[in-house]
Amino acid sequence: MFDTLTERLDGVFKKLRSRGKLHPKQVDNAVGDMRTALLEADVAVDVADGFLERVRARALSEEVMRSLTPAQQVIKVVNEELTTTLGGANRPFTLPPTKPAVVMLAGVQGSGKTTACAKLAANLKSKGRRPLLVAADLERPAAVEQLRTLGREIGVPVASEGKDPIKVARNGVKEAERSGADVVIVDTAGRLHVDTEMMRQARKIRDVIRPHHVLMACDAMTGQDAVVQARAFMREVDTTGFILTKLDGDARGGAALSITAVTGKPVFFAGVGEKLEDLEPFHPDRMASRILGMGDVLTLIEKAQDTVDADKARESAEQLLKGRFTLEDFLGQLREMRKLGPIQDLLKMLPGVPGGKNVLKEAAGAIDEAEMRRAEAVILSMTPEERREPAIISGSRRLRIANGSGVTTADVNGLLKDFEGARKMMRQMMGGKRMPGMLKMPPGPKS
Ligand code: GDP
Ligand code: MG
Repeated sequence: MFDTLTERLDGVFKKLRSRGKLHPKQVDNAVGDMRTALLEADVAVDVADGFLERVRARALSEEVMRSLTPAQQVIKVVNEELTTTLGGANRPFTLPPTKPAVVMLAGVQGSGKTTACAKLAANLKSKGRRPLLVAADLERPAAVEQLRTLGREIGVPVASEGKDPIKVARNGVKEAERSGADVVIVDTAGRLHVDTEMMRQARKIRDVIRPHHVLMACDAMTGQDAVVQARAFMREVDTTGFILTKLDGDARGGAALSITAVTGKPVFFAGVGEKLEDLEPFHPDRMASRILGMGDVLTLIEKAQDTVDADKARESAEQLLKGRFTLEDFLGQLREMRKLGPIQDLLKMLPGVPGGKNVLKEAAGAIDEAEMRRAEAVILSMTPEERREPAIISGSRRLRIANGSGVTTADVNGLLKDFEGARKMMRQMMGGKRMPGMLKMPPGPKS
């Protein structure tokens, strides 16, 4: 995510940090370098200039220039102004109590509308709502089937009754009333470029179903183009906000950084993968931290809370307190961790691990899925007794386990060492000592 931009900005900050005192000239140079980086990321010129103007004014203030750590202060200012540019505070996506609440998705073809519809439905369903998806994109032959397939995957019904999109949309809302669905999500057609025919259709659908939200899917891999499209949509259909899609990919930053500043409408969600659970609420401050390579520990913790089974975690902790943290508990932990997704993705959210080349990222590549699976296989090849009492695993047992799980004895030794390490670390944590560095908070924007 934003790898190139992050690296460029990091370079600017390194230069600043290399000096003790700051000169106004250096601030100007830094602002100039940041401008180049932003324009290369295809941020709208007005947005970049507005942002840099605010940064410059604050960076040149007495308070910053006279401080003992002026470079740090400038970075803090950049972080805060970036947060403002991205929309300021998080705007939670809320629906009126009306039954059904109506949400319409719009956007150009390939921006991720249909996927976003399904992700949003899955998200709302997990919060106890009863969504109905409506496939009103009749332009592309396969679009209806695509939504039906996604709907099946998440157990949400999909309606598509009628021969023209406007009727399909209207019938969809009626179907929701009939079936007791409390939120309807309507997928609409998109073309490669915003064209008037598509706009007209979108507006007609809007006039008929009177949505509470018109969300526009906006591809984060694009730059200012997306912003021009967003503007055009705004005029036609009164967009209430955006879903920024494909943030997991090679996002340039241009669209993400410009969209709210240009339209005045918030980004409610970020799409961070092709899977249907890959939707996150959008937090401007956390996004700013990520762009600046400061990581996003808060999202990581939330993700862990959502995914990891709290009961299992407590069980492991209790076992440990009784001095009985076994390889079985370790296996449980590995499995919980795997649910969080590839380790590489998690490490990217930690401070000091921007997407660029660095040691940690390479290390992360080494602990991959395959290794996790290997560890699982090794533990499963042990007898229950061995899992409870690893001390009894002698040389001959190691060989048997290695053969049983298709690895070498060195792999078995490595795993047993990892286990000992985990046990020691957990003991320290339970002993009330400092948490390991991983859970320390990064310097927040306000600190
Ligand atoms: P639509 O034409 O606007 O309806 O776009 P689709 O929903 O069909 O998505 C177009 C392509 O983008 C599909 O291959 C999706 O799997 C992919 N896609 C959508 N959202 C995301 C995302 O957040 N991350 C990634 N990596 N791919 C996405
Ligand atoms: Mg579609």
